[in-house]
Amino acid sequence: MSKLFEYAPAPESPSIARLKPHYGIFVDGTFRAGRGEAVKTVNPATEEPLAEVAEASAADVDDAVAAARAASEPWAGLPGSVRAKYLFRIARAIQERARELAVLESLDNGKPIRESRDVDVPTAAAHFFYYAGWADKLGYAGFGPNPRPIGVAGQVIPWNFPLLMAAWKIAPALATGNTVVLKPAETTPLTAITLAEIIAECDLPPGVVNVLPGGPAVGQAIVDHPGVDKIAFTGSTAVGKMIQKSVAASGKRLSLELGGKAANIVFDDAALDQAVEGIVNGIFFNQGHVCCAGSRLLVQESIHDEFVAALHDRLATLRLGDPLDKNTDIGAINSAAQLARIRELADSGVAEGADRWSPECALPERGFWFPPTVFTGVSPATRIAREEIFGPVLSVLTFRTPGEAIEKANNTPYGLSAGIWTEKGSRILWMANRLRAGVVWANTFNRFDPTSPFGGYKESGFGREGGRHGLEAYLAH
Ligand code: NAD
Repeated sequence: MSKLFEYAPAPESPSIARLKPHYGIFVDGTFRAGRGEAVKTVNPATEEPLAEVAEASAADVDDAVAAARAASEPWAGLPGSVRAKYLFRIARAIQERARELAVLESLDNGKPIRESRDVDVPTAAAHFFYYAGWADKLGYAGFGPNPRPIGVAGQVIPWNFPLLMAAWKIAPALATGNTVVLKPAETTPLTAITLAEIIAECDLPPGVVNVLPGGPAVGQAIVDHPGVDKIAFTGSTAVGKMIQKSVAASGKRLSLELGGKAANIVFDDAALDQAVEGIVNGIFFNQGHVCCAGSRLLVQESIHDEFVAALHDRLATLRLGDPLDKNTDIGAINSAAQLARIRELADSGVAEGADRWSPECALPERGFWFPPTVFTGVSPATRIAREEIFGPVLSVLTFRTPGEAIEKANNTPYGLSAGIWTEKGSRILWMANRLRAGVVWANTFNRFDPTSPFGGYKESGFGREGGRHGLEAYLAH
């Protein structure tokens, strides 16, 4: 579809991010140089270095765990209403620095500013607000009259929602009286370190939160550390399985939020334009770097051609480019390694006989980019129908009956999320009862709210984050 009109560029200035040349690790309430190798974090949209980040070493992990242990009893012993005040303060400080955090996130991650500004940062603040509300009401949360914290929580997070994942991990842990050693992902450490700065400014007692940038070795050192009582991990299923083996028989509590291959199911009675919007949002939001992305479109056979044509029309209007431009819909892929993985899987789709389509779309010369891509004629046995691509690639399959839709949707080792598009309320309930997925959206997709639990079935992990349920992962029982 030809563009009706062009948008003038509307970029945010990178200077709003207040980038520093060097970032340290945060241990026992202070920033210091890590004893690991210093690495440069790059802007995936330009491949230019943004800052040097000091990575933690195993000795730094020891120090952070010792600091978290020493802070543990005093923190747990505070009245819940006092812990709540700190959480409220952090939430307010995130809001006050929202624009800076949004620009920083888009620079480090490559996601469009529209998303970091309207989703990542406000939802991160909302998590702190929400869990602040629980801190003095834990006895009424349904986990006994006097629930106790677990102790020191080791938390390892991925790169797709760097600030938001840190908030999902830290807020419930603090509300329940735990202390934290958190490791951000190696390609996106900057907003987690800035969150540590905010936490220090909010006068949180030293050692309650420690932030250790670094790679897999730092994550492994946290997981294996005998001074850690609980591990909370968000990341790939492969690493989640390794972590589960490492902590087996250690007595550590574990929650895993892993990968997904969600089915987004469109029936012939759905409001089609609304469904097209939902499918586009479901897979192209955050370049498809979303664990619950609707990466498999299951469309009822009778409307397949009409629906795919409408999808093509809509995709032709998406704008790919500068993540800091407020008009951008699709930003950069987070790293060269992730881009290589997306390319390899997309190529396998062609090799296995599916039809590949992308809108006309010029990719910038520098940086890591992949065009929005739709595969039709996808057979359920192929890699693009089964493996998590974690990129802007949609696989379209068809079904005839609700029973067949359920069978195909559940035919995956994952079980994180699913979407249903239909006018019939009874069908929504019938489907939702049969879908083996932790979250089922109906006539919407990718909606996140701190009051709502989120988590998986099967190889998508176990434990829930968010809502009252999210408290349980941090309470001893
Ligand atoms: P990843 O598993 O490679 O890395 C995640 C984190 O684990 C990083 O911080 C990494 O440094 C660390 N890590 C790597 N190896 C480790 C080890 N052996 N021991 C301890 N820590 C280790 O995943 P990724 O590529 O960063 O993230 C993408 C994955 O995350 C996708 O599969 C996605 O579905 C998943 N994810 C899940 C959720 C959810 O809530 N279920 C949310 C976001 C992302």
